Amino acid sequence: MLKCTRCGREYPLDEPYQRCECGEPLELELFKGLPGIGRRVWERFSQFFPFELDLELSLGEGDTPLTKAKHLSKELGVRLYLKNETLNPTWSFKDRGTFVGIHRALELGFKRIGTVSTGNMAASVAAYGARFGFETFILLPSNIAEEKLKALALYGAKIIKVRGDYGELYYKSLEFGRDRGIYFINSDDPFRVEGYKSISFEIIEDVTPDYVLIPTSSGGLFRGIVKGFLELKESELIEELPKFVVIQAEGCSPICSAFYEERQKIERFENPHTIAHAIENPYPPSGNAVLRLLRKLEGLCVSVDDKEILSAQRALGEEGIFVQPASATSIAALKKLRENGTVEKGAKVVSILTGSGIKTLHQVKAPNVEDGELSE
Ligand SMILES: [Zn+2]
Repeated sequence: MLKCTRCGREYPLDEPYQRCECGEPLELELFKGLPGIGRRVWERFSQFFPFELDLELSLGEGDTPLTKAKHLSKELGVRLYLKNETLNPTWSFKDRGTFVGIHRALELGFKRIGTVSTGNMAASVAAYGARFGFETFILLPSNIAEEKLKALALYGAKIIKVRGDYGELYYKSLEFGRDRGIYFINSDDPFRVEGYKSISFEIIEDVTPDYVLIPTSSGGLFRGIVKGFLELKESELIEELPKFVVIQAEGCSPICSAFYEERQKIERFENPHTIAHAIENPYPPSGNAVLRLLRKLEGLCVSVDDKEILSAQRALGEEGIFVQPASATSIAALKKLRENGTVEKGAKVVSILTGSGIKTLHQVKAPNVEDGELSE
């Protein structure tokens, strides 16, 4: 059964429902279970996923390292752990959600899948579409850079440029899919969210965090990580929930704005502008659902500006990890939270490094190269 995250209305599982008639996202019930043995997170936590996953079709998503940040831990006076999602098959956390989401399409008998994206999501769905032998449709805003289309073409996806920003395309795509028999595994599809739970399961195998910092755009990743921890608590595998922190860029922070103004609903963020393009969604489809979770679980919301983001990106480089600007937001936010005393000294903090910097190389400053001569 799928249940509305707001009004609680229920929907049967044999139809491709993704959103409630009230407009809010749907989700599956909380799973309970015990971890087992297995090389892959999908095996160890198989009791927590809605169906059996075909590991022969896996591209190796998940089971990413949780790396202790040496310099930043010292500098910030906390125990900081970096969940390095840049090591997924298409270099971002999206692969976890795509892998579970595509099984849902398979279960419902679809032969075509799609998504709406400007970057990471497109690459992920295109890659798994190819892997599973689906016909794949990627809807992109018309102003997309040519460079980003190359990988999609290589995976054999059909690319359709549409007018509108990400927020608008999301709703248009669901209509487009209904008319053409395409299952859109968008950012907060209930089964994509199930895939993101795997991050929480892996974290808990290594540390019991006091805080989890999550760069947040559509809200799908945040919902998935929170659901994972809620299931761990229900299953009595952890005693207490960590504090969940939503991180947004100041130039596009519809969730943080609503949170601080104590509104029940997000509003479209006008004229978004930030270097953190991967989290630049002016009207996140799970924005209200995230707000509800933040209130219920007493979470935090922090926004950071582009200068702080770029400085945090360099700091992560010094830890040996190259992330996209959107992923660096959480380190910038942690600095603020330490400065204003919200996060206490010695706290165990996990930061989700959502995606690699390799796809946004143009945003990195060229180095100063010295002329040298090699002689005796
Ligand atoms: Zn509803």
